[in-house]
Amino acid sequence: MNTLFHRGRRLRQSPQLRDLVRETAPLLAEDLVMPCFVVETATSRFRKEIPSMPGQFQLSPVELEKLVETVPRLAAVLLFGIPAGKDDRASGAYAENGIVQQAVRRLKARRPDLLVITDVCLCEYMSHGHCGVLSPDGRIQNDATLPLIAQTAVSHAQAGADMVAPSDMMDGRVAAIRGALDAEGFTQTPILSYAVKYASAFYGPFREAAHSAPSCGDRKSYQMDPGNAREALIEARADIAEGADALIVKPAGPYADILYRVRRAVDVPLCAYQVSGEYAMLRAAGLKGWIDEKSAMLESLLGLKRAGADMIITYCAEALLRQKLAR
Ligand SMILES: [Zn+2]
Repeated sequence: MNTLFHRGRRLRQSPQLRDLVRETAPLLAEDLVMPCFVVETATSRFRKEIPSMPGQFQLSPVELEKLVETVPRLAAVLLFGIPAGKDDRASGAYAENGIVQQAVRRLKARRPDLLVITDVCLCEYMSHGHCGVLSPDGRIQNDATLPLIAQTAVSHAQAGADMVAPSDMMDGRVAAIRGALDAEGFTQTPILSYAVKYASAFYGPFREAAHSAPSCGDRKSYQMDPGNAREALIEARADIAEGADALIVKPAGPYADILYRVRRAVDVPLCAYQVSGEYAMLRAAGLKGWIDEKSAMLESLLGLKRAGADMIITYCAEALLRQKLAR
């Protein structure tokens, strides 16, 4: 019989055949970056679960160190700091003994093999919660913000950070950071730039976790409009031209088309950031028994690799590594 249809099932008959023809490799432990919230607190054993992100904690540096030592095959972390105090110059962001700087020193002293990436932004340290310096009329001052961002990146490098990841979305910040790092002798510190970061509702739980919600207005004057795709390519190319070594697309799942487009447009390593709201949805449905949570996590991350991500920042990292679901 000469059939007129495609027999796609031929190659799906056995696990061996499926393995042989699979296009995207299963998730690897070294693909994953675990985000962590480190808190400046008088109590050295501080550990507090974030209500909207079950399984994620605000941790003191001592507790953070304990965490990274217990997660098997953990290759990389991304640190966010929650300072004891805030001001209108975000001075905690670039303080020599700021919370991220303390945490980096501690982790690198105990685990030199762990790749420690730091988020570089001002919002957690600003009294008003915006990512840049605010003028009296309530506008974010782009160029006045750049030296503070650059100073923050340098202070992280001085503490021993392996890579800095600016997330503020000010124009020109990658060039400012590259210049400042080079001037201080950190020519080998790579910049993982949040090049393509949308003004997203999926960041909600993070703002509770990092105490970084803006007290007035929103971030739409610096983060990207979710309707824009071509603009993502402009942002990606601009950051590479300024000296970014690798780029982040954020959020991840709802923007997999953007990841795919950026992948086709540039050749540097690409990172997808599966954000707090994406994690919260997976966990909420999992906790209710509505989905097979671990399988859904793996599938969501495989989708990001298929779209072109070389690495993924995800709050699912700890659970997947503990259960040996990433190879
Ligand atoms: Zn910020």
